Order: sequence, then C-alpha cells, then structure tokens
Amino acid sequence: MKQKRIALIAHDNMKPAIIEWCAENKDTLSQHLLCGTGTTAKRIHDETGLAVERYKSGPLGGDQQIGAQITDGKIDIVIFFSDPLTAQPHDPDVKALLRIAQVYDIPIANNRATAQYIVHSTLLTEDK
Ligand code: PGA
Repeated sequence: MKQKRIALIAHDNMKPAIIEWCAENKDTLSQHLLCGTGTTAKRIHDETGLAVERYKSGPLGGDQQIGAQITDGKIDIVIFFSDPLTAQPHDPDVKALLRIAQVYDIPIANNRATAQYIVHSTLLTEDK
C-alpha cells in the first residue's frame, strides 16, 4: 500500500467538524502521512492522537505553505473544511490553494461528504 500525504485544513467554525471526521476515520487516516495548518493540526493531534505535521497557521501563510508542497509533488490529497458563511482575512491564500490544487489535479474535499468519498475510495491505497 502506498501511503498518501494528506493535508488537513479547517476554518475556525469548521474545526469541530474536521476533528470529529478525523476521529471517525482515525484507523484509516493513521495509515497515511498527515499534515495541516497550525491550529487545525494541533487540535486534531490533541483531540484524536493522530500525528499531524504542523505548518504555519492559515492566516499566517499555512495555506501558502501547503500550496508550495503541492507544487513540489509532496501532497496527494487536501481535506479543507472551509467556512462558506464567514469572510476570511486570508481569502486570497485560500483561493490560491484551491487553484494550485486544481492545476496539479489534487483531490480536494471542501466538505464532509466529499471527504468521506475520498477516505472510503479504493484509490486511497493504490499506487498513483
Ligand atoms: P489554522 O488555519 O488551522 O491555523 O486555523 C486554517 C485557516 O484558517 O486557513
């Protein structure tokens, strides 16, 4: 099985949802290499025990760091629970991340339903 490198990001109002989703899928996620924006990564680690490499907090450039990792071929999947109802100060960074994921054909889930389809896909354990 090829381990996938999965980036985890959630805006503040969505953090409880991504933590719950990670806890629910802990057995699967623990078989892969996880990273995330600062606060999301810390909270997922603290509240589920999953190992999550931490980048900067999103508003301080974490989304851009993950985008750069994508361009370097170091991220396979992005789970990004963005908040559709609240304006974000780093909206340009968010847009840039969505764009670069699209450019590099990286699966990116922006809600729980899509994240479920990805984590339950047989492609998750296949070599790319
Ligand atoms: P955070 O960043 O995980 O550091 O809160 C996420 C974001 O708001 O982009």
